[in-house]
Amino acid sequence: MNSSENCIFCKIIRGAVPAIKVCEDEYTLTFMDINPAGPGHALVISKAHAANLLEIAEPDLLAVTRTTQRVARAVQKALVPDGLRIGQFNGAAAGQTVLHYHVHIVPMREGQRTGAHGRAPGDPEELKVLAARIREALED
Ligand code: 5GP
Ligand code: ZN
Repeated sequence: MNSSENCIFCKIIRGAVPAIKVCEDEYTLTFMDINPAGPGHALVISKAHAANLLEIAEPDLLAVTRTTQRVARAVQKALVPDGLRIGQFNGAAAGQTVLHYHVHIVPMREGQRTGAHGRAPGDPEELKVLAARIREALED
């Protein structure tokens, strides 16, 4: 599996940096965003390192997309948001801060005005509870 030494998401995949995980399979890992834009903000990443949409191999892209739908359905069932924002940035100029392909799943409430990025770290205990609720709502 293609990995990058100093990439923070590759470190999470290797277990060198902790993360509050929701689920994983052969090609993808889903965990809670450390700086949530709102309750339930999760990230779906490819296990193989690729910087962005332009570089990711098709099987990894398809796997991330499949996982995104599966987790989005679980978020909808568990947290019942009014909407779901699914986002992905390519390049620093577009707002990408971690150069490892990932998709944001951000549950949205009516009238909520947050972007894809939060401003402060989430409470780890709260993130663990949200991750467990999402995990329990996952279907095959
Ligand atoms: P980007 O701007 O690249 O689309 O977003 C990167 C996201 O990754 C941000 O929302 C940021 O909060 C999140 N993030 C950055 N470093 C870490 C980390 O070490 N752990 C977790 N769980 N999330 C991270
Ligand atoms: Zn990486």
